[in-house]
Amino acid sequence: MKRNYIGGEWVDSPNHSSNINPSDTHDIIGQYARADAAQLRDAVAAAQDAFPVWSVSTPQQRFDALDAIGSEILTRRAELGDLLAREEGKTLPEAIGEVSRAGQIFKFFAGEALRIPGELLGSVRPGVGVEITREPIGVVGIITPWNFPIAIPAWKIAPALAYGNCVVIKPADLVPGSAWALSEIISRSGLPRGVFNLIMGRGADVGAVLLEDPRVTAITFTGSIATGQSIARACAARMAKFQLEMGGKNPMVVLDDADIDTAVSCAVQSAFYSTGQRCTASSRIIVTEGIHDRFVTSMVERMRHISVGNAREQGIEMGPVVDASQLAQDLDYIAIAQAEGGHLAFGGRPLEYETPGFYLQPTLFTETTNAMRINREEVFGPIANVVRARNYDEALTMANDTQFGLSAGIATTSLKHATHFKRHAQAGMVMVNLPTAGVDYHVPFGGRKGSSYGAREQGRYAAEFYTTVKTSYTLA
Ligand code: NAD
Repeated sequence: MKRNYIGGEWVDSPNHSSNINPSDTHDIIGQYARADAAQLRDAVAAAQDAFPVWSVSTPQQRFDALDAIGSEILTRRAELGDLLAREEGKTLPEAIGEVSRAGQIFKFFAGEALRIPGELLGSVRPGVGVEITREPIGVVGIITPWNFPIAIPAWKIAPALAYGNCVVIKPADLVPGSAWALSEIISRSGLPRGVFNLIMGRGADVGAVLLEDPRVTAITFTGSIATGQSIARACAARMAKFQLEMGGKNPMVVLDDADIDTAVSCAVQSAFYSTGQRCTASSRIIVTEGIHDRFVTSMVERMRHISVGNAREQGIEMGPVVDASQLAQDLDYIAIAQAEGGHLAFGGRPLEYETPGFYLQPTLFTETTNAMRINREEVFGPIANVVRARNYDEALTMANDTQFGLSAGIATTSLKHATHFKRHAQAGMVMVNLPTAGVDYHVPFGGRKGSSYGAREQGRYAAEFYTTVKTSYTLA
C-alpha cells in the first residue's frame, strides 16, 4: 500500500484506489492511498511551517537536493520507465525517455538554483541605488494529469524547490505510481520536513480543497480545459497566482514541396506516438492539393506497419489507450467523424491482444473539413484527420482557425514558407520538419489562446511563475 507523504511522514488514508495496467487489466500495480480534505490541510500546514526555513536556504542546499533527486532518477530510469509503461500504457522506449527527461529537469534546476539572478540599477534620484531581486512565492499547489505521470510532476516540483518554495502535489488519481516513486526519491534527498508533500486523491475531493486554501499562494495546473477553467475561477476568486497548461488541437501542415518521408514520419509520430495522448499531439493534418493523394497513400501504408500491443513488450510502437472511459471517448469521436462525412481511410476499431487491455487501431480520416467536430475538439486518442488545402495561405488560415494554440508543425523544403509559418502560426511552439510533440527540457514550454494561461513553464522562464520580484531602494 502506497501512502501519502505529509510533513516528512508517510501517512495512510481511509480510502484507496487500485492502479490498473491498461495493457493487461488483470495486472493490479498496487493500492494507493486516497487522501481526504483533512490530510490535504495537514500537508498545506506542513508546507507553510517549512517555508520560513526553506525560503532562505542556500543555493548549495537546493542544488544538493535537486541534483541527488536527478541522479537517482537517471540511475533508475529502466525500472521507473517500466513502472510508467505499466501504469500509463506508453511503450517502454517512450516511458524510459520520459523518466530520463524528469531526471534531466531536476539536474537543470539544480543548476538554476545556483544562478538566481538579480539586477542593480542606478536610481533617477541622486545617491540612491536600486536593487531588483527574485523571492520565492510561498506554498505552491501542483495538480498534474495522467499522461506524463513523472515528467510533468518533475517540471513543476523542480523549479518550485529551486526557487525556494514549498510544495503540495496532487497527481492524477488514475496514474499515481510514477508520482509516488518520484516522491519517495524526493523524501530521501535531504529536504527539511514539510518542504515537499504528496497528496494522492480525486480532483473533486482534495484538488478542489487545495485550490481554496488561503495558505496556498500559487497553483500550477496541467490538465483538461474544463478543469483548468474551474481552477482559474477558484484562484481568481481569492487572488491566488495561477498557471494553466491545457489541451490542444495542434495542426501539422504538409506543403507540396515537402519531403514525403519526412512529412509521413512527422505525421505518424505526432498523431500516434504515446497513443495520441499528448497535449502536443497533432490530429489535424492540413495537406496542400499537389501532395495530398501521395501523402495519404504513404500514410496509410506506414500505418499498416504500426505494431499495437502490450506497452512493455519489445517492438511495440503503440500501446493501449489509458482506460475504458478514454477508449469510449475515442470510439464516440470515430462515430462522430463518420456521421459528419469523414472517410475512414484506416483503423477505427478496438483490437484484441493476448492480455486484456484498451487497444485501439491507429485511425486516419480523410476528406474532413476544419469545421467538423473531429477537427475542433480535443479527442486525446490515436485519431488523425486529413484536411485538404488549396495552397500555403489557406493551410495557414486553417491551422490558426482553432480555439487552441499549443504547438504547430509544418513539413516543407521552402525557407520562405518555413520562416513565414514560424512567424505567423498562432502557437506557443512551432516545429519545422519535426513532429508537433517532443520538446527539449531546457527551453520554455507552453501555448497561447485556449491552451495555456499565465507564465511559461520550463527553462529559465520558469522563474516568472515560481518567484516574485522585489525592487529595493537604498540611499547610501
Ligand atoms: P483532468 O483535467 O481531468 O485532470 C487533471 C488533474 O486535475 C488531475 O490531477 C485531477 O484529479 C485534477 N482535478 C480534476 N478536477 C479537479 C477539481 N475540480 N479541482 C482540482 N483539481 C481537479 O485532465 P487529465 O484527463 O488528467 O489529462 C488530460 C488533459 O491534460 C488533456 O486535455 C491534455 O491536453 C492535458 N495536458 C496538457 C498539457 C500541457 O502542457 N498543455 C500536458 C499534458 C496534458
